[in-house]
Amino acid sequence: MEYVLTANNLYKSYNSFKALSGLSIHVPKGSIYGLIGKNGAGKTTLIRIICGLQSPTLGDYTLYGVENRSPKISRARRKMGAVVETPSIYLDMSAEDNLKQQCRILGLPDFSCVPELLETVCLENAGRKKSRNFSLGMKQRLGIAVALCGSPDFLVLDEPTNGLDPQGIVEIRELIIRLNRERNITFLISSHILDELSKLATCYGFIDGGKTVKEISSEELEAACRKCRRVKVTDIGALCRTLDDMKLEYSVISDSEADIFGNCSVTKLSENLYKSGCELISVSDRDESLESYFISLVG
Ligand code: ATP
Repeated sequence: MEYVLTANNLYKSYNSFKALSGLSIHVPKGSIYGLIGKNGAGKTTLIRIICGLQSPTLGDYTLYGVENRSPKISRARRKMGAVVETPSIYLDMSAEDNLKQQCRILGLPDFSCVPELLETVCLENAGRKKSRNFSLGMKQRLGIAVALCGSPDFLVLDEPTNGLDPQGIVEIRELIIRLNRERNITFLISSHILDELSKLATCYGFIDGGKTVKEISSEELEAACRKCRRVKVTDIGALCRTLDDMKLEYSVISDSEADIFGNCSVTKLSENLYKSGCELISVSDRDESLESYFISLVG
């Protein structure tokens, strides 16, 4: 698999305090990677490091295969855009002037990308209105448009839906999905709300206390959060044979337990197990919602 960003065992200390203590991350090209962790987990610290705003105390990362200590890292960083903490916009300028200013900063030859960018983030009708008078959602969208100047193919967004109303959240989500699908832009998005990320992310990195707890694909997360029945038996081999015969989907959890997905008649299962000389010890329904999965990982 091709990765846009990889980091292994990153550390960042502020005096004796460790904001990152062995964080690893692997962002596949073309993915929407959800970086999820509680407040203070280290999300912004990681993002500041990969944007080159801070250096790691220990450990390395690669951007497009270029190591952070390589002189070529600045060139690799030109392929990425970011909105860290608050959108970098000039409040006394209109949306259009903000984008023109960013074109100047990047040394772009002209402003030809500006109308298309305004349209992309649905700000083409914002007119001469100064961005200080924008709603939070409009400011966030303008921040994304600024980050899109220079046509990056990797966008890093730090808590992009923080403080937005439900409509603003939907607009940002749809914008991200559109940019990912239509322009194949890879995203790294941080959030402390798994439910929100789950509507768009294709893979996740769970971090806690500055460390990676788990990296998981959206398919794996969905399977982990599916409703199922956990059964405990005296003979796991007999249980697997019985479930195969009953054409039920299952996943073995331990040498005595398995999770069964889909409709399963406990009476029928118990009868079939009895015939194989296996005793059904217990059955419990499991409904691992996204948030409880998150809590089970990060406490
Ligand atoms: P949030 O969701 O609240 O933004 P976060 O996951 O982004 O949290 P960070 O901002 O990366 O967390 O902070 C991680 C830890 O590092 C926090 O305990 C924070 O107080 C600490 N920290 C961040 N910057 C500094 C700094 N400059 N000096 C000292 N401690 C810092």
